[in-house]
Amino acid sequence: MENKPVRITSIEAAPLVGDTPKGGWDAEIKPEDSIHALIAVYTDAGITGHGSVYTDGRLVQAGLRVLEPLFRDENALEPQRVSEKLHQNTFWMGRGGTLTHVISGIDIALWDILGKATGLPVGQLLGGRYRTRVQPYCSLLMAHPAEMHDEVARYRARGFRAFKIGWGPFGRRDDAKLDEAIVRAARQAAGEENRLFVDAGASDAHWPQGLKWAMRTAEMLKAYDVGWFEEPLRPDAIDDFCHLRRVSPVPIAGGEVLTRRQSFLPWLSRGAFDIVQPDVTKVGGISEQRRIAWMADDFGVRYVGHGWNTAVGLAADLQLATALPNVDLVEFIGGSAYLDGITEAPFVLDAEGYLAIPDAPGLGVRLDRAKLARYTPDPSVLFRA
Ligand SMILES: [Mg+2]
Repeated sequence: MENKPVRITSIEAAPLVGDTPKGGWDAEIKPEDSIHALIAVYTDAGITGHGSVYTDGRLVQAGLRVLEPLFRDENALEPQRVSEKLHQNTFWMGRGGTLTHVISGIDIALWDILGKATGLPVGQLLGGRYRTRVQPYCSLLMAHPAEMHDEVARYRARGFRAFKIGWGPFGRRDDAKLDEAIVRAARQAAGEENRLFVDAGASDAHWPQGLKWAMRTAEMLKAYDVGWFEEPLRPDAIDDFCHLRRVSPVPIAGGEVLTRRQSFLPWLSRGAFDIVQPDVTKVGGISEQRRIAWMADDFGVRYVGHGWNTAVGLAADLQLATALPNVDLVEFIGGSAYLDGITEAPFVLDAEGYLAIPDAPGLGVRLDRAKLARYTPDPSVLFRA
């Protein structure tokens, strides 16, 4: 193969709106709010890459304008070098925030392009495929017990064998009996043989609980065989996380609000997490997520990517899941149109509730223009020839 640069000619963003799922947030998300945007990276070779960003589409569009002089004419076949150039040269413009989120989407799209140009799936380009399928856990918002039971049962009937319940009333009513009743209902609906995880969502606005609540609640969760306790403390409370991890009978998970690999260093070196959960669509993309996941591996910390996601974000999670030795889960939002309703072929669970990891070139998912027309004002920005 001739090694000729493939130049970036332009990058466009399309906000996803109209059917945005609730987040369980204190100030709840409305269907017309944009919290996700898709990105298209165009090249002079006619190869287009797609990426996904977890933030308001207006911020993504503004971020692309700021970054344009740095990415224009860059070699799209060198994702990690180009993304690092963008990080290093925007140091004083709010690193870790919008620009880091936007770089994440660009980076994902560049890996997609590299895969399409070489005919290889991204997981192989990341160093090799450890597995061909992975278990998605169905991520659901907490609800009052009867409703929680029905919700978990509905997704179990669709074939999921792992579930995470989070946010909503949990921990927010100062009612330990209610918290336990929600978890009990979810466990009953999930079945003894399936996996259940609990996410307090303490990165929500004005999280009211502290370390003692988290310690008591961790004991309660143990009785329901909960696989991890996620964001049980405010996202900056590193000392309390370190203490909780040592005393909790269930594994402690967190890190979804951290961005940039450097932010994870103190959390890993001080032993704050059993499971680290960076979000590939915010943290800096596949290049950054891969480095965090391998760093965690060296600390003996499990990596399971956070993915409150789009189909493109999930595709990136799947490629990362194959390229690391010990990844057994990806997050899958239950009932999101942006996950299930924007690609040519939907994600399909196998008989054991696993997802195949695509081995087609690049990310291995194809966006559907007609379907996307329902969720973005101008889908053509993602499909220019
Ligand atoms: Mg979470």
